[in-house]
Amino acid sequence: NAEAALKNAKASGNRYMFYQASMNESVAVRLTLENQLRLALENDEFVLHYQPKVSLATGQMTGAEALIRWNRPQVGLVPPGQFIPVLEETGLIHHVGRWALQQAIADYLRWKRAGLPVQPIAVNVSSLQLRSPGFIAEIQQLVGIDPAAASGLQLEITESMVMQDIRQGISTLQAIREMGVTVALDDFGTGFSSLSYLSKLPLNMLKIDRSFINDMSDTPEGMSLVSSMITLAHTLKLKVVAEGVETEEQARFLRLLRCDEMQGYLYSKPVPGDVFESRFLAQPVGG
Ligand code: C2E
Ligand code: MG
Ligand code: MG
Ligand code: MG
Repeated sequence: NAEAALKNAKASGNRYMFYQASMNESVAVRLTLENQLRLALENDEFVLHYQPKVSLATGQMTGAEALIRWNRPQVGLVPPGQFIPVLEETGLIHHVGRWALQQAIADYLRWKRAGLPVQPIAVNVSSLQLRSPGFIAEIQQLVGIDPAAASGLQLEITESMVMQDIRQGISTLQAIREMGVTVALDDFGTGFSSLSYLSKLPLNMLKIDRSFINDMSDTPEGMSLVSSMITLAHTLKLKVVAEGVETEEQARFLRLLRCDEMQGYLYSKPVPGDVFESRFLAQPVGG
């Protein structure tokens, strides 16, 4: 009947308005975030923090990973997990990714020219960057500014990036390695790469994902898994790094398993460039 129909329409109408209002709100929040990210590059609001990697055998620093943060006005430091996806969806990742590469190379060269014992710096690249047609030329141009730049740069890629187009991925990585830049496979173990394909990738290093290091001490299986990954890396003639090492016990196990390097809070959290310089690069007095 008419009255019931009207009641229904009203109810669904109200519901519709309700959904629309909340949708508009999230769209508005998203647009603001997007616009602020757009401006962030112009306003120099991105910063790189550096986290050292150390040799498990000698305790010496072997390099560092550059990790981006957004110093958002009125908010503070925003971790990459909260804005990298938006950068990727909007295409801004190409600009911000380029900025990160440029900044890491500039910091490396500045430390190098100051005579500080700086080791290669690893920069994470998004699959969108790796697959963009101009990427090889971009790296070429960025490292072309100084003969020392290429050997000071490492790219961190993930398995899924190369899996999307294996042939193209391999040839891009090959071109990059010919420049003297090294390549690490990040978050190893979380992707789905087959062993045959892993052996074809032009890599220098495997980084065992933090989740495996975390589970390592809990069960014998967890330990075996990490052990197998280290053996696999060495069979492929790759250096292997354990990510997310937080305890002395983990470090001790990794040393027994002949893992090459570790990175994690046990040694240091990621720190701003000036802190990295004074804490890890400054020459010890008299040394
Ligand atoms: P990732 O490359 O796997 O980086 C390692 C992450 O683990 C970092 O998180 C680091 O702060 C964290 N971590 C290191 N040691 C420990 C530890 O002992 N315990 C724990 N719980 N965490 C540890 P962060 O800085 O939040 O970065 C997250 C991800 O964002 C990175 O994962 C990387 O995929 C991405 N990312 C960071 N910087 C960039 C960038 O410049 N460009 C792109 N495309 N992605 C980036
Ligand atoms: Mg990484
Ligand atoms: Mg990782
Ligand atoms: Mg990751």
